[in-house]
Amino acid sequence: MSHVSLMRGSVYELRRKCGKPSCACRDGVLLHSCMAITWSDAGRKRLRSLSPKEEVELVRLTENYRRFRRARARLVELHAKMLAVVDQLEEARRREP
Ligand SMILES: [Zn+2]
Repeated sequence: MSHVSLMRGSVYELRRKCGKPSCACRDGVLLHSCMAITWSDAGRKRLRSLSPKEEVELVRLTENYRRFRRARARLVELHAKMLAVVDQLEEARRREP
């Protein structure tokens, strides 16, 4: 099995005003745009802007993480179903002393 890296967080386009009164962004139409990643660190929401090169890589890693978590959730579900079947088997086969 090949090694697949995972990264928590979401990559998205951050659009905002810079706050300078003379800037074209002041009317809210031409906003400044950059790519950023947000993630939760010990309950605190963190944000970091990304270079275009980083963006491609981090989109890939965060998608890997989401795919991994979905697979884990399916495994938890399947495990519960298997336990239920095992419990039914026990119930059907058990004899009292
Ligand atoms: Zn501006």
